[in-house]
Amino acid sequence: MDANATLGQPRLLISTEALEQNLRVIRRHLEPSVQICAVVKADAYGHGATLIAEALARIEERTPFLKVDQFAVATIEEAATLARFKKPIMALRPIENVLLGQNRDLIELALRHNWTLTIATPSAADDIARLAIQCNCRGLVQVMLDTGMTRCGTSAEQFNDLIDRVQRHPSLKLSGVSTHFVNSEIRGDALTSRQLRGFERAIGQREDLKRITKHAANSGAIFFTPRSHFDVVRPGLSLYGVDPTGHASVDRPLRPVMKWTAPIIALHDIAPGTTVGYNQTWTAAQDSRIAVIPVGYADGYPRIASNRAVMGVHGHRAGVVGRVSMDMTAIDVTNVPDVRLGDEVIVIDSDPTAPNSIYGIARLADTIPYEILTRIGPRIRRVLASEEMTTSSTSDDNSAQAD
Ligand SMILES: *Cc1c(COP(=O)(O)O)cnc(C)c1O
Repeated sequence: MDANATLGQPRLLISTEALEQNLRVIRRHLEPSVQICAVVKADAYGHGATLIAEALARIEERTPFLKVDQFAVATIEEAATLARFKKPIMALRPIENVLLGQNRDLIELALRHNWTLTIATPSAADDIARLAIQCNCRGLVQVMLDTGMTRCGTSAEQFNDLIDRVQRHPSLKLSGVSTHFVNSEIRGDALTSRQLRGFERAIGQREDLKRITKHAANSGAIFFTPRSHFDVVRPGLSLYGVDPTGHASVDRPLRPVMKWTAPIIALHDIAPGTTVGYNQTWTAAQDSRIAVIPVGYADGYPRIASNRAVMGVHGHRAGVVGRVSMDMTAIDVTNVPDVRLGDEVIVIDSDPTAPNSIYGIARLADTIPYEILTRIGPRIRRVLASEEMTTSSTSDDNSAQAD
């Protein structure tokens, strides 16, 4: 859809140029032989998975060197939304046999599409093998080794048995072995080294794993632990232009891919003493002009931003006043010239140095950019937008840090 058709609605403007730039930054950190698996779980970190897949296809068309080789999602349902892009897909959430009964149709769907399923137990391998025979196909499975996350994955002690079990099933094909880091965003972290050694030890003891795809690196490990790149890397956050350290870095010119905007739907000129919003948490100290935008905490704009955050209006900053409510938020535009109904407000700026950047909002909400991004709700339209529409403006100061 044309981005102009959504003017007047709250929306996420998605920049293909920024996505391309981030792929370039990631690619620059990799040996040419290393493949990129784009992590598009949770609706591509809130950006819209099919939209991101479309943008990636356009980038690949004009710059084959920036090709994404496969997608990673959490669930088979998520994989299904991407079937038409004809890329290999891995589902990261391990299949567990006690849950297999209810999920049988989904697993069959995955088998028929040749999507890779992640497993961590022999019983899951047996069950997938049986389903693969029934649908007359070879099931692709990857074994996730737990090296310190203590979440999902087989232990080092059980790793060999699990690989043996997979290899013994003619209806299964081992498509990869993987692990996941705990502290990847910290350069030189001791646990990351231990995890990497544990992974190398487990795979190094088996001749039959020499030619099997190995992968471990998420965004942080791509930048800080080159030895973890192996055959494939799995960037999520960095692909969307957000630095895993939680602040923009001059060493890695990542560009946030999304800009969240919303139109002004009401304007009020109020007298001193007038209060704004639930529970009267803000009172005008002077004659003030208040603008209302149709975005609230139900859309993932954090309520803790009440009376704290700023938004961008015509290149100026406008403070959020009163409580962020479920569907609406008020901002103080007293000092912004020429504000009109329908004008577009920048809720979260694509400029990483703006006070309302994804970093700034995450910090203010005492969380990480991942959480803010993935909570942006379904009422916000996601659209691919031109370069002019996606670059901005809430601030022109430059506060990127080196690390
Ligand atoms: C989410 C996820 C990633 C992507 O991590 P980022 O920090 O966003 O790059 C990679 N691997 C696994 C197993 C994941 O769950």
